[in-house]
Amino acid sequence: MHFVAGNWKMNLDRKSALALVSALRERAGQRTDLEIAVFPPFVYLDEVARSLAGSRIQLGGQNCCDEEKGAFTGEVSAAMLRDVGAGWVLLGHSERRHLYGESDALIQAKVQRALSSGLRVMLCVGETLGEREAKRTEAVIGAQLKAGLQGVKAADLDRMAVAYEPVWAIGTGVNATTAQASEAHAYLRGVLSGLYTPAQARGMRILYGGSVKAANAAELMRAPDVDGCLVGGASLEASSFLGIIDGAPRL
Ligand code: PEP
Repeated sequence: MHFVAGNWKMNLDRKSALALVSALRERAGQRTDLEIAVFPPFVYLDEVARSLAGSRIQLGGQNCCDEEKGAFTGEVSAAMLRDVGAGWVLLGHSERRHLYGESDALIQAKVQRALSSGLRVMLCVGETLGEREAKRTEAVIGAQLKAGLQGVKAADLDRMAVAYEPVWAIGTGVNATTAQASEAHAYLRGVLSGLYTPAQARGMRILYGGSVKAANAAELMRAPDVDGCLVGGASLEASSFLGIIDGAPRL
């Protein structure tokens, strides 16, 4: 089943977040032919969770702390996300890696903490433009994937999804072509096959993210090995996010 996820980043206010979620709930809240999730800012999670109650739209946090609890001012724990009704957490987003210096080791620790707290993890990987131009895409995304999955048991794979998000495509309006996305996704699936089994690798959802909008989503999601999309900017308005949802391949 395809998966369409919306990462709101540090956008919207309380009123507009609730209006957006209510429109999504009304128009797509009972879809059984694809999975939908939203990742609001932490402070709105609790209220968004209550607003989504009874719908099939899933909820996630955009980050969590690698530590369980304690003196970590400003951090939010995986257990807190669970406590307010989040089922997912986004980890390794390029903005966390590049703007906040999160290392593969830290992301790996967060993945472990999230899984042991009962969350599902959407692990993001992606190369910069310089890395792509230097023909290092596979080396970079392969290493990020392997590091993030280090210590993840096969039994926990059904609580993981991967998002391939080339850094040069995030928020730039320049999306990867279907060929570029397919090539990267096939490579990642091959890495997964090596780490686990081919059947387990086939079962893992690999979403594409980077300037997805209603006009390109359907084509991207029909590409081989693309199992859905992670959407930033275009998930902030009901009409554009619903346009993407409506373009997703059906079961
Ligand atoms: C993202 O935030 O993960 C993202 C892909 O953003 P955008 O869709 O705006 O490029």
